[in-house]
Amino acid sequence: MRLAVLTGPGSFEIEDVPAPQPGPDDLLVDVAACGVCASELEAWTGRSAPDYPLRLGHEVSGTVTEVGERVHGFAVGDPVGVWVTERGFSEQVVVPASAAFPAGDVRLDTVLAEPLACAVNAVDLADVRLGDDVVLIGAGFMGHLAQQLTVLRGPRQVIVADTRPDALDRAQALGATRTVDVRSESLADVVAELTDGRMADVTFECTGTAAALQALGEVTRMSGKLVLVGFHQGEPRPVPLGYWNWMAYDLRNAHFRDVSTILAGMRTGMRLLSAGAVDLAPHVTHRFELADIAEAFETAVAKPEGFVKATVVVARPHPA
Ligand SMILES: [Zn+2]
Repeated sequence: MRLAVLTGPGSFEIEDVPAPQPGPDDLLVDVAACGVCASELEAWTGRSAPDYPLRLGHEVSGTVTEVGERVHGFAVGDPVGVWVTERGFSEQVVVPASAAFPAGDVRLDTVLAEPLACAVNAVDLADVRLGDDVVLIGAGFMGHLAQQLTVLRGPRQVIVADTRPDALDRAQALGATRTVDVRSESLADVVAELTDGRMADVTFECTGTAAALQALGEVTRMSGKLVLVGFHQGEPRPVPLGYWNWMAYDLRNAHFRDVSTILAGMRTGMRLLSAGAVDLAPHVTHRFELADIAEAFETAVAKPEGFVKATVVVARPHPA
C-alpha cells in the first residue's frame, strides 16, 4: 500500500509499504481521507526542526476492512472516523477499536474526528451557558467548529471577529449574531455596545496569535472565562497579567493530551456529526489526491481566499 512520508521540509515521498496488521483489539481501516492539520505545517515548512522522516496524518476517516478477534461492535464495511497518532496519509491504517467511531451516512471526506474532538472538549471546558454572550476571535477551521458547537449550547449572542471578509461571511452563515472585521471596527467597542458595557461571559481565542490573545482580554467581563483554542507556538506571548488578575479572569487552556479526554470528546463529536447536529462539509474547501499531498500542504500554508481546510482524499467518498 502507499504511504506518504515527509522526508524533509517541503518534500513528500510516496512509499510502497506492506499493509499494517491489526492485533486482536484493532481494526484495519481503508483510508477514505485524512485532514491536513495546522499543527503539521511547521514540519512541512521546516520552521520547527523535527527528526525527519515523519509519517504525518492523524485526522482519518475510512471503511473497516478487517476486525480484530476481540473487537465487538464493528463489522467489515462500517464507515468510521478514527484517531491515529501518525501514518494517516496512507491507504490503510490500523487503529485500536477504542479510537474508532461510527460515521453513519456522513460523507467520509468530511469526517474529521480529531479536530472535532478538540472543539468539543474546548466548548465543554468553556462551559457555555444558556443566554451567555460569547466572543470568538478567529474564523478559521477551529473557530468554525467551536462556533457551531457553542451555538448548540444556547448562547444569547455569538460575536465573531476576524480580518478576512470571506471568513466573516462564513461565520455569519454559521449563525454568528454579529461579525466584526477588526481592521475597520473596534471589537471592544462593539462588544461593549452589544452587552451594555458588561462585556462577554465567554471568549475564545482561535488564531494562535499574540494580538488576538490580547484582544480577548479587552472583551471579557469581570470573572468571565477566557479560553485558549489557538495553537500558541514560537515567541512568548506578552499579556497584561496584572489587569487579567484584577479582572479575575478564568483562564482555560483548551489543549488536551490525556488520551481518555480526547477519546471522550471524539465520541461526543462523532455522535453529533453522524446525527447531523454538526456538519463539517462546508469547511472542507480543498481536496487533494495522495500523490498531490505536497500541494495540499502548500495550500494549507498559503491559505488562499476561501480556504478553510484541506484534506487528502485516498479513496472514493462514501456513499458514492
Ligand atoms: Zn489535527
